[in-house]
Amino acid sequence: MTDLDLIADVLVAGGGPAGAWAAVKAAESGADVVLVDKGYLGTSGATAAAGTGVWYVDPDPARRSGVRVLDHSPVTELLVDADGAGAGAAGHRRQHGHSYRVRAGAVVLATGGCAFLSKALGCDVNTGDGALFAAETGAELSGMEFSNAYAIAPEFTSVTKTAFYSYATFYHADGSVLEGAGSTRGRSVIARALLSERVFCRLDQAGEGIRQAMRLAQPNFFLPFDRQGIDPFTELFPVTLLAEGTVRGTGGIRLTGYDCATSVPGLYAAGDTATREPICGGFTGGGSHNAAWAMSSGTWAGQAAARHARALGARAATRAVRGAGGAGLRPTGGDRAGHREIIDAVQAEVLPYEKNYLRHGDRLAPALASLDETWKRARHGLRADGPDVVRARSAAAMAAHARWMYASALARTESRGMHKRADHPGSDPAQHHRLISGGLDEVWVLPETGWPLAVAS
Ligand SMILES: Cc1cc2nc3c(=O)[nH]c(=O)nc-3n(C[C@H](O)[C@H](O)[C@H](O)COP(=O)(O)OP(=O)(O)OC[C@H]3O[C@@H](n4cnc5c(N)ncnc54)[C@H](O)[C@@H]3O)c2cc1C
Repeated sequence: MTDLDLIADVLVAGGGPAGAWAAVKAAESGADVVLVDKGYLGTSGATAAAGTGVWYVDPDPARRSGVRVLDHSPVTELLVDADGAGAGAAGHRRQHGHSYRVRAGAVVLATGGCAFLSKALGCDVNTGDGALFAAETGAELSGMEFSNAYAIAPEFTSVTKTAFYSYATFYHADGSVLEGAGSTRGRSVIARALLSERVFCRLDQAGEGIRQAMRLAQPNFFLPFDRQGIDPFTELFPVTLLAEGTVRGTGGIRLTGYDCATSVPGLYAAGDTATREPICGGFTGGGSHNAAWAMSSGTWAGQAAARHARALGARAATRAVRGAGGAGLRPTGGDRAGHREIIDAVQAEVLPYEKNYLRHGDRLAPALASLDETWKRARHGLRADGPDVVRARSAAAMAAHARWMYASALARTESRGMHKRADHPGSDPAQHHRLISGGLDEVWVLPETGWPLAVAS
C-alpha cells in the first residue's frame, strides 16, 4: 500500500541544480510540479559542496515557484503507463518512514551521476539511480566509457576540490619530485605511483599574493588542513585519488533531442544524469561546463516536460500505471543477497586505479565478467524492506552503471578523452562516433548512427 499518493503534471527526481532549474522552468511554463530529493533540495549532491557558486541565487523572499518539494524522499522506481511512457515515480519518505507515489504527465530525471560511494565530496548520494530507472523503462545510455573521473584529495579527507593543485608539486616519500605528476596533465602519473607508494604534495607554486585569494575563493578547501594544523603551502601532505565516475565524468542517459528527451516518451534527463557529450565530447567539463550544463539542460528538460504533460491533459491523472523497477525490488530468484555485498563487489571492480583509470583490455574483461555475476546475484536475490529499499536500489544502480561503463570501455578500442587504454594508446579516426549502450540482464553497446544532437531540431 502507498501512504502518500500525489498527482502532478511534472515530477522532477533530484534537487541539484539540474532538478531545481527543471522544476522552476516547468512551473514557469504553467505546470503543477513535484520535486523529490534523496537529501535536501539545494544542499544535497555534488554541487552543494563544489564551490561553483551555482546556488548563489537571488534571495528575494517574494519569489515563489509553487513547486511542491519532498525532501529526504528518494525515488526507488519509475512508473510507466500501458504504452511504456514515463508516468511518475514511487519512493520512500525517510523522515516519515513511509512510501509515496507521484503520478505525473512527464518525468525529469536529475539524480546526478554515479561516484560509486567513493566518499568524494558531496557525492555519496550520487549512486547512478536515474540511469537505472531510465534503463528499466527501455532508455539508452551514451558515452559510458567516459566515466572514469578521479579527483585529487588529501589522504585524510574527502575534499576533492582540484583547482588549486595547479599550484602543486608532487613528491615521493623521500622528498624527491615525482616527475611528470600534475593536476590537469599528469594525474595518471600520480595514479601509477599510488599503486606502489604514498604520494605527497605541496602547493609551493602559489606565490604569496595569491594565497590569501585562494583562501577567500574556496574556504572549504582549507578546512581539513587547518584542522590538522598543516600549512599546505609550506608542508608536504599525502594525497590520494577518489573516483567520481560520471559526476565529473561525462557519460549518462542518451538524449534524443535538444529538449533533453530520452528514447522513452514522457521521460527527460538533465545534468550529470544525462550524457554531457553534446558539450564536452569525451572529456570532463569541470571548471564551468558541468554546472552550465546542469542549469541549461534542466531548463530545457523542465520546459519540455511541461509541454508533454500539457499535451497529455487529464489523461495523466487517470491512466493506469505500474512500477518499472527490477533489481532490488522484485527479485527473480530465491537466494538472498544484501546491498552491502553487492556494493563491495562493485567497488572492488570500479575503484582500483589499475582497473578503471589505467585501463587495459586484459583487466577490463575480467572486471566486467565479475560485475556480470554481481548483477545476476542482485537481480535474483537483492531484496529489502522500508528504508533499506533505497540502499538496495542504489546498489543495483551501481552494478548496472559499472557494467555499461566497462562494456563501453572494452568496445572503444582506442584512447579518447578521459578514456585511456594502455593497450590502445592512440586515437582512431574510425571511432570518431558516440557509443550507445543499454540493457540490464544483457548489456549491449553499439556505435551511434545519425548523430541526433548534431542536427538542429
Ligand atoms: C568537488 C567537486 C567540484 C566541482 N567543481 C566544479 C566546477 O568548478 N565547475 C563545474 O562546472 N562543475 C564542477 N563540479 C561538477 C558539478 O558539481 C556537477 O556537474 C553538478 O553538480 C551536476 O548537477 P546535478 O544537478 O546534475 O547533480 P547533483 O548536484 O549531484 O544533484 C543530484 C541530486 O539528486 C539527488 N538524488 C540522487 N538520487 C536520487 C533519487 N534516487 N531520488 C531523488 N533524488 C536523488 C541527490 O540527493 C542530489 O540532490 C564539481 C563536482 C565536484 C564533486
